[in-house]
Amino acid sequence: MGTETGICGVCARNEAARECSECGIPLCDICAKEVLLQDVSPGSMVKPGVSTSPLRAGSRKKKVCPKCMEEADFM
Ligand SMILES: [Zn+2]
Ligand SMILES: [Zn+2]
Repeated sequence: MGTETGICGVCARNEAARECSECGIPLCDICAKEVLLQDVSPGSMVKPGVSTSPLRAGSRKKKVCPKCMEEADFM
């Protein structure tokens, strides 16, 4: 084996592969919840004549723990 990277703070059984974007608790792949955030800016960024970004603006992904998933209001 080797260095211990940490144990998931949610299930306390699996090895943590990431951490919660909100509270920073270690998360394994199973416990990590993916949330999709939509950035809606009031000012439209679409301008005629300007080439649109290859990336679809307005959405981000976040990995959080189940607790933050429930508590945080992502809508
Ligand atoms: Zn876990
Ligand atoms: Zn969290």
